[in-house]
Amino acid sequence: MSLSFKKSQAAYEEAKKVIPGGVNSPVRAFKAVGNHPVFIQSGQGAHVTDIDGNELIDYICSWGPLIFGHNDKAVQEAVLSAVQNGTTFGMPTEIETTMAAKIIELIPSIEKVRMVSSGTEATMSALRLARGYTGREKIVKCGGCYHGHADHLLIQAGSGAMTFGVPSSPGVPENIAKETLTATYNDIASFKQLFEAYKDQIAAVIIEPIPGNMGLILPDQGFLEDLRTLTEANGTLLIFDEVISGFRASLGGAQKRFNIMPDLTCLGKIIGGGLPVGAFGGKAEVMDHLAPFGEVYQAGTLSGNPLAMTAGYTTLCELQKRDPYTQLEEKGKQLKEGLEEAAQKHGVPVSINHLGSLLTVFFTDQPVHSYADAQTSSTEAYRIFFESLLAEGIHLPPSQFECWFISTAHQDSDIEATLKAADHAFKAVAEA
Ligand code: PMP
Repeated sequence: MSLSFKKSQAAYEEAKKVIPGGVNSPVRAFKAVGNHPVFIQSGQGAHVTDIDGNELIDYICSWGPLIFGHNDKAVQEAVLSAVQNGTTFGMPTEIETTMAAKIIELIPSIEKVRMVSSGTEATMSALRLARGYTGREKIVKCGGCYHGHADHLLIQAGSGAMTFGVPSSPGVPENIAKETLTATYNDIASFKQLFEAYKDQIAAVIIEPIPGNMGLILPDQGFLEDLRTLTEANGTLLIFDEVISGFRASLGGAQKRFNIMPDLTCLGKIIGGGLPVGAFGGKAEVMDHLAPFGEVYQAGTLSGNPLAMTAGYTTLCELQKRDPYTQLEEKGKQLKEGLEEAAQKHGVPVSINHLGSLLTVFFTDQPVHSYADAQTSSTEAYRIFFESLLAEGIHLPPSQFECWFISTAHQDSDIEATLKAADHAFKAVAEA
């Protein structure tokens, strides 16, 4: 089977005339895997239909928001009902309080929460708050972690920045960049060195507790605990960026799964139920430093938008009701084991990281615990693998350094079809 994507190709040519690179977010462009992106018409469950009429099994799931897959009935009905009342008011609505209370109920360390419209806004605002609260300027992030595209976070950033080899972007002023210090994920000594060198100057450490933007990396035993102890001892706020892991690593995020409480948490993706939402929250004592009654300014015309709140709130309630985590863990395991078997059959060295419904196949023969390990992967092998799977109707993220997202809508038949196509794809890698 080899699908045709002629209409997508033509659509991409048109898009490039009016949109930089033809896309509104860089990784979508397929730059790392060659060729042109697939243009989508619609989505249902684990499948998307493209404009050529191909039905594809989707492991992007909008990069994380769609834990129930596309067009979930409960979310769709709630949004259709909410839209009858109007789309935005810029005045308070009760659904915002209901949503905040639900987040506080589910995410253990959050006592108060402010809604925004993207993950980028969440991390940017959390860091401003941390700086305002502590009166310190420096922040620490890990190489290979991605926290959105605010100036001070585009330093050794993961995701598209890593894929395209521009981890630190032109346009970020040096004066801002120098306030961001970088440490190494899973290496507590690298953090200790920074705390010694910059004593009493570090406002916050921001970290993806389960990094998903250099591919999926899992925390080594004790690493996050040590980071909690170290930040606390230095009067530094610990910020968990749970934009991916929130409501995915468990209903209470990575913090609940590992029982480690950050001072602030950033959320996005799943809390929007497919609409544009982000949030940041934490200890009331810290959050109360935000405007209007606190001194740290932060705002948004569409923040707490009623349609987005409805989609997000419905998603969180449905997660509570359906409790899909054991099932998602099982699906992820099934996929990982099947992929390992297929890779082995064709003698292709891979290292597969998996947690719940997140997974990355690294084309390397060594375990991947760090940014440096991830960089040993063959991006050329990934390109061949990606291309072969797409030709058979399986749409992976178009970059080695991203997670595959599994939803509750992925059926056994989808996983079986994926493994069958992966058998051919690993063969293509082996023969290249
Ligand atoms: N933090 C993490 C961990 C992310 O994965 C992302 C986006 N992939 C962001 C922040 C930024 O979110 P957004 O794209 O909604 O601005």
